[in-house]
Amino acid sequence: MTSSFFPPQRTLMGPGPSDVSSRVLGALARPTIGHLDPLFVQLMDETKSLLQFAFQTNNALTLPVSAPGSAGMEACFVNLVSPGDKVIVCQNGVFGGRMKENVERCGGTAIMVEDKWGDPVSLTKVEAAFDNHPDAAILAFVHAETSTGVASNAASLCALAARHDALSIVDAVTSLGGIEVLVDQWGVDAMYSGTQKCLSCVPGLSPVTFSDRAAQRIKNRQHKVQSWFLDMQLVMGYWGGESKRAYHHTAPVNNLYALHESLLMLQEEGLAATQARHWLNHRALVAGLEAMGLSMAVAPNYRLPQLNSVIIPEGVDDAALRAALLNEFDLEIGAGLGGLAGKTWRIGLMGFASNERNVVFCLSAMETILQRQQAPIITGEALQAARLVFDGA
Ligand SMILES: *Cc1c(COP(=O)(O)O)cnc(C)c1O
Repeated sequence: MTSSFFPPQRTLMGPGPSDVSSRVLGALARPTIGHLDPLFVQLMDETKSLLQFAFQTNNALTLPVSAPGSAGMEACFVNLVSPGDKVIVCQNGVFGGRMKENVERCGGTAIMVEDKWGDPVSLTKVEAAFDNHPDAAILAFVHAETSTGVASNAASLCALAARHDALSIVDAVTSLGGIEVLVDQWGVDAMYSGTQKCLSCVPGLSPVTFSDRAAQRIKNRQHKVQSWFLDMQLVMGYWGGESKRAYHHTAPVNNLYALHESLLMLQEEGLAATQARHWLNHRALVAGLEAMGLSMAVAPNYRLPQLNSVIIPEGVDDAALRAALLNEFDLEIGAGLGGLAGKTWRIGLMGFASNERNVVFCLSAMETILQRQQAPIITGEALQAARLVFDGA
């Protein structure tokens, strides 16, 4: 007979979901109330304010879409791209390809700017694309490429879009809550994120924010938004600032308790302290991996502290290592994607999971398995190298 499902207690150090704290899980298990209950409406208002804090924005149109990061991505594209629009799409990993797919499904034309996987988006190439397509309406790019562990220069890219009178759509699924995100200062027009990466909440919600300029573009649309569910004009009737809420869909009530709690935790720690913690644990992990004789896949200037791509040494059995980590240590790390499959591991240090204990645990577990596989590594040095970083902090 089928029985209840009890998952094991894993340590999640992959590309997301990341570990969820017991505080957030506790919030998730609180009693479900009606989604139009005045107390729930109050929670929605607070969640909006907390998201404005996380995004560093005053944008009125800021809310969590009731579905995962991919839905936030789609919400930005279907609301802002009209049939016939030209959109410059930057691709330097998996997620730029999904942006292209979104543009085309909205009846737009995607002008692709491609960079090597493992490199950031090239400002020069984007500038050239605007020169060749001065009528481009939108620039879309990924701030933190989770498939490679690369950060692109969001401030400069948004400035470039503004200079060419184009709106910017920015994927911040992996960046929000991990590295600096400054929506108003950078002049971002539309940004989407996810709850299960550096916000360390359960998967299933996608925080989004739209500038006034973007909101105006949505109001002035000539074509109805192709998606009824993601049409921001309709969603705003439910999430809007006024006290009157029109039913659009039933909010995922308990997921919103969890998001509220995880955003509170971010606010309590403070953005600067959270980011400093991500950088410190990243430096310690890298020091340990390098002391083991392993190499990072991304150049130091573009590395994300929350997603560490490591080159798999010649002759090491990628799948066997990950399986051993999972089965013997309950530790999940990520495999390489696309062209990097079998070539890199992706070690996440996201949100709540970015801590000293996980750095030390991951280094010793990897060393144990690699040594058993007789991989060409240096043993007995990694933990000391990581310790020096922590002690020097
Ligand atoms: C995870 C991720 C997404 C997709 O989010 P889901 O919640 O899995 O739908 C989009 N973009 C980036 C950069 C991501 O890392």
